[in-house]
Amino acid sequence: MTARTTTKNVIVVGSGIAGTTAAFRLRQEGYHVTLLEQEDYPGGRMSSHAVSGGDSAYRLDRGASWLSRNYLPMIKLLEETGLASRMLPCSNELGVLRDGKVHRLSFVRPTDLLRTGLLGWRSKLKALNLLRDLSAARPALSWSDMSKAAGIDIESAQEYALRRLDKPLLDYLVEPLCSTQFLAPADEISAVGVLSIMWSTFGAASFTFDGGVGRLPAFLLDLPLMRSEQTRVELNARVSDVRQDGNGVHVTWERDGANRVEHGDACVVAVPGPIAAGLVPSLTDDQRAYLSALRYTSDVHVTFGLREATGETALGVAIPLREHPDLCVVLHEHNLGPGRAPADQGLVTLVFRHHWSAARKSVDDDTVVEDSLTALTEVLPDLAAHIGKHREMAAVQRWDRAVLARPAGGYGDLARFTSSLDPRSPIQLAGDYFAYSTTNASLSTGEAAAQRVAALLST
Ligand SMILES: Cc1cc2nc3c(=O)[nH]c(=O)nc-3n(C[C@H](O)[C@H](O)[C@H](O)COP(=O)(O)OP(=O)(O)OC[C@H]3O[C@@H](n4cnc5c(N)ncnc54)[C@H](O)[C@@H]3O)c2cc1C
Repeated sequence: MTARTTTKNVIVVGSGIAGTTAAFRLRQEGYHVTLLEQEDYPGGRMSSHAVSGGDSAYRLDRGASWLSRNYLPMIKLLEETGLASRMLPCSNELGVLRDGKVHRLSFVRPTDLLRTGLLGWRSKLKALNLLRDLSAARPALSWSDMSKAAGIDIESAQEYALRRLDKPLLDYLVEPLCSTQFLAPADEISAVGVLSIMWSTFGAASFTFDGGVGRLPAFLLDLPLMRSEQTRVELNARVSDVRQDGNGVHVTWERDGANRVEHGDACVVAVPGPIAAGLVPSLTDDQRAYLSALRYTSDVHVTFGLREATGETALGVAIPLREHPDLCVVLHEHNLGPGRAPADQGLVTLVFRHHWSAARKSVDDDTVVEDSLTALTEVLPDLAAHIGKHREMAAVQRWDRAVLARPAGGYGDLARFTSSLDPRSPIQLAGDYFAYSTTNASLSTGEAAAQRVAALLST
């Protein structure tokens, strides 16, 4: 792959999938790129790391752990870069717990909804409304900018389910989708969020990479175009200020207590909205207020490395609110692909609704692990016993800002915000808050920001 040449330099703040994709696309356009990341690893919420326990080596995804072939912009990028050869299949089943029994549905066959014992016939007929509404909503759903959904954003997922579906569909489909995707119950999420999940999740197979989905940003940074002299990646580089100057931008960043100033022709700020609000002084008061108020749910999840795999075939089992108030999904990560756990061994993650995590933000890891097992015992005692017997490792991961939980009305606010942004500004924003929290949405917003910058700098 050859890049056009120019000596113009673009600074990208944040090496999550939005930032790394923006950086890659800008390099393809021939720009020099400086990528600044505050952590000592790239990838942000899409990153994986090695953890050892007993005699075993495990690989854990810090954030995102599941990818879909519905993620078309991601697939296109993988194909263009030759990275598609790294894609691996994984389990396509999601379980839902009802009255102690796990009902398994396939992502690939949305018609499973009509066959499953999870729901009665009346609910199955009502589920057809969901498919109809999804088809009607489709033109308003976009990976890189969900502001077009403002017109259909009229109620919460709970209100929608009670109006168009029925109570069992609320309890065993809509609420589990909200909790697994947004870590929040259905009354806190816009109905558009549920339609987005259905659109992005069902009807296509899952895929992964050897050793975790979080390897994608690292793969991108390892491409020849990104290892060239025209790309500079600075880790442990915390940016504090991004401002426009006479002929471009200057960016202040800090390492080891020393401030440095970087000059660029343009900048892509690819960090979560509330952080962007504090970095860019040229935002208007309304823009800053919008970004600062964005509601990300918090997440504290616990992963156990096991000497023996669980017997579960699904990649995860959703625990509806009716079944447990706190625990919302159990991921059987060894079903998510190779390289997570040694052969025949297990990797299980317990994920909780945001109120549980928020209450444990400052609680020590040992107590969090104990609390998580108490919750599991209340709902899946056999699995809790299996973990107790075969546990080799326990790791706690914490995210203050895990995923965006947009309430009803949030898409209208987004539309007002996006329409107020200047597409010709040398400072462009990217991140999941333009759409909804998935790796693919972030990737798409990174591509869109890179395109706007390239259009500006080429004139
Ligand atoms: C627990 C969890 C599970 C998830 N599961 C899935 C899933 O299964 N599938 C899926 O598709 N999506 C999932 N998501 C959502 C997905 O991970 C995110 O939407 C996406 O990765 C966000 O990418 P981003 O580049 O927009 O932001 P981020 O990944 O947050 O990247 C922002 C980067 O900027 C850096 N940064 C922040 N401030 C500064 C600063 N001042 N200076 C320099 N650098 C800075 C951060 O360290 C970070 O690396 C999950 C998220 C979480 C947290």
